[in-house]
Amino acid sequence: MMIIMRPGAPREQIDAVIAEVEKHKLTSHPIFGVEQTIIGAVGDGHYVLKEEFEALPGVLEVQRISKPYKLASRQFHEQDSVFKLDGFNVGGNEIPIIAGPCSVESRTQIIETAIAVKEAGANALRGGVFKPRTSPYAFQGLGEEGLEYMVEAREKTGLPLVVEVMAVSQIKMMEKYVDVFQLGARNMQNFNLLRALGETRTPVLFKRGMSATIEEMLMASEYILNGGNTQVMLCERGIRTFETATRNTTDINAIPVLKKMTHLPVILDPSHSTGDSDYVSAVARAGVAAGADGIIVEVHLDPPHAVSDGKQSLTPEAFAKMVRQLKAIAEAVDRKLVN
Ligand code: PEP
Ligand code: MN
Repeated sequence: MMIIMRPGAPREQIDAVIAEVEKHKLTSHPIFGVEQTIIGAVGDGHYVLKEEFEALPGVLEVQRISKPYKLASRQFHEQDSVFKLDGFNVGGNEIPIIAGPCSVESRTQIIETAIAVKEAGANALRGGVFKPRTSPYAFQGLGEEGLEYMVEAREKTGLPLVVEVMAVSQIKMMEKYVDVFQLGARNMQNFNLLRALGETRTPVLFKRGMSATIEEMLMASEYILNGGNTQVMLCERGIRTFETATRNTTDINAIPVLKKMTHLPVILDPSHSTGDSDYVSAVARAGVAAGADGIIVEVHLDPPHAVSDGKQSLTPEAFAKMVRQLKAIAEAVDRKLVN
């Protein structure tokens, strides 16, 4: 339900409406506009009469949100959500590039990669320290030691850190190090983890589950938003289809579809969605042309020897070339890269 207050309604009236929302065991999500406040009331509210809220002082009108996802919907928040990361915005006209290795492998590897991607135009550094590997015998990540190396890389380059969190128990420790939590495809419906991320105020790069529909993706993101963490970036990272020529199939459609359905920024991961460095740049270009608000891409100094996802990792040189091309594509669709 969206409770739209009259322009200039005083704070006491807004507070009284919020108190009434909470009396019904619904969660309130006020958006304070320059002239007008809108209060989102979400939860199991099918039994609540909208007339009851319409009768409260200062209320202009009450609208039900027709979609099953509420806080993520354009109906609740018409304008694109824009939020600030270190040194750039996400969701505005500028398109940030997040780059780095699949896994942090060593101190020198992450520092040298950070310097190389920064030089080529990256705005944030990615790197996994807890890896969701298909096999329990494969490299599982360096853990907290890897985070310490990433912090050194941030100090040297100024790039904020995007790191995957795999478990609720890792959140507290990781919060001290990371700028953005990555929620991995395999955890998209780990509702306990989603709820716990909703309690933090660290931005989340939220990856689509490999077999999740767009609506399931939005419903899952709602768990984070409902906890009060509004800084969620949605990431298309390819889905499972019958096609075997590529690791996954990039759902390019998802970009304009999501832009219509939600106000949240939409990021494309051309690395996991293709699984092959030969296709990464082409699909990244398609993503920017389709309206993506950012690109996250895997870069490795020596892809054949990477401990994970080497086949899909770009060399720093290939990454630099991709960034140059993305610049031109961004301009063609009236946008620009951050750098
Ligand atoms: C990754 O970013 O390295 C990763 C494991 O991504 P995904 O969750 O999309 O598979
Ligand atoms: Mn990877």
